[in-house]
Amino acid sequence: MSESEKRQATEDLWERVKAIYMASLPTDEQRSQVDRYLSMVSRIERNGDDFVMYTTNSPAAELLNISYSDKLASMLSLFFGITAASVKFVYDESSKAAIVIPKEEAVQRTSSADESETRKVIHASTMPLRREYTFDEFVEGPSNSWAYSAAKGVVSHPGEKGYNPLFIHGGTGLGKTHLMQAIGNDLKKTRPDLSVCYLTAEMFLNEYVNHMQTGKLLEFREKYRNFDVLLFDDVQFFQRGKIVQEEFFNTFNYLQDKNKQIVMTCDVSPKNLPALEERLISRFIGGMVQEIESPSYETRLAILKKKTENSFPPVPQQTLEFIADKIKSHVRAMEGALAKVKVILANNPATVLTPLVLSHLLKDFIDNEQTMKKITILDIQTAVARKFNVDLSQINSTERTQSLVTPRQVAMFISRKYTTNSLEEIGKAFEKKHATILHGVKTIQQRLETELELKEMVEQILAEFGLKLE
Ligand code: ADP
Ligand code: MG
Repeated sequence: MSESEKRQATEDLWERVKAIYMASLPTDEQRSQVDRYLSMVSRIERNGDDFVMYTTNSPAAELLNISYSDKLASMLSLFFGITAASVKFVYDESSKAAIVIPKEEAVQRTSSADESETRKVIHASTMPLRREYTFDEFVEGPSNSWAYSAAKGVVSHPGEKGYNPLFIHGGTGLGKTHLMQAIGNDLKKTRPDLSVCYLTAEMFLNEYVNHMQTGKLLEFREKYRNFDVLLFDDVQFFQRGKIVQEEFFNTFNYLQDKNKQIVMTCDVSPKNLPALEERLISRFIGGMVQEIESPSYETRLAILKKKTENSFPPVPQQTLEFIADKIKSHVRAMEGALAKVKVILANNPATVLTPLVLSHLLKDFIDNEQTMKKITILDIQTAVARKFNVDLSQINSTERTQSLVTPRQVAMFISRKYTTNSLEEIGKAFEKKHATILHGVKTIQQRLETELELKEMVEQILAEFGLKLE
């Protein structure tokens, strides 16, 4: 086997281990978290049974070692017979220079015009982009076509007004990260002159804390100001800390002033980020805001087809239809189900996947869907009214006494967070405007941070539906 074939074989093995590990995780939250961390691996080396995974970021390597090394090693042993496998994550210092800042260095040598003259070049960490997250691999449909066009617009007009900043929001697993990385992947090809940084807000926060502890805040500040395009994933994380918000605000302003492109994703709309400061929110919505919604059956099926185009053995059409029909809420959940089916087929291509077999095989995924679907807004209003000892009719009234406003807003909060209903549908059910619903959700979210008694009541209501406060 040549070196490059060996490398390819190792990468293929890694993709399979990852798919199996992901399929073994019970919840969407876990899958999305694991996915986020494992996507930080940029390169793998295999020496016999020892696997070394390189990451472009040092806190990531540490975290991956603590949480995932053993699990992945046991997957290698269980499914691939590599019984003495060891998995180690290592921070790859050399990857930094290759990934970013080539441009700034050039600028510094040639230009004498601006303050970059005196600026030291500091290499920033950027997380690697996934090769498969491209526009070609993204299925466009009515649920995401606005976000899709906006993302394409950024690629053809990076930094230009109207597309800057671009804010993409929507529920988990609906393709925000994919679309954002597609922007990065495309720009790297079409505009190699631009330096692109992709980072989750969580990583920004971790790095910020690390730099703060080591007294290197200035260095941190410099880092992210050197980019032409900053892709910021999951900005809802900024709700965790006021100081990091301030830091981001400054970086954001600096880059905007220089017409650098910023793209952000978030799991809620910007107006629905209770712990973020107003001025930050108003900057977020100063460019273009687009929502990705849950895909329709046709789009779900098209996505599944796309994801199985090259699979071997092929996944039967009826199986794809079964999955598209049963799993509606998240694309990521569909992929989890698909991964499970693929594992079965790979191990036994003769398996006949009848609806009955599939129902058993994908039970966890389907059950999960049903909890999401089962609860109606009316169920929620009824449960809340009972808990707060008010009449159901008062929940929808316009009376503004606090004893009614709180349960009303709690019901709005639960409906928004724990059902798949759209804002329109929730608005209708409460006979209120969007803004009123969002205000209610925000208010409760804020109060839950400090009011233990209220928190307990909300938890008890959620428990009636088999749910937990997130
Ligand atoms: P989010 O960031 O919104 O939580 P991701 O971008 O991580 O979601 O998407 C979850 C998975 O679903 C990814 O593997 C992604 O490729 C896939 N996916 C989501 N939407 C689409 C789509 N429209 N076309 C193809 N794949 C999609
Ligand atoms: Mg994401």
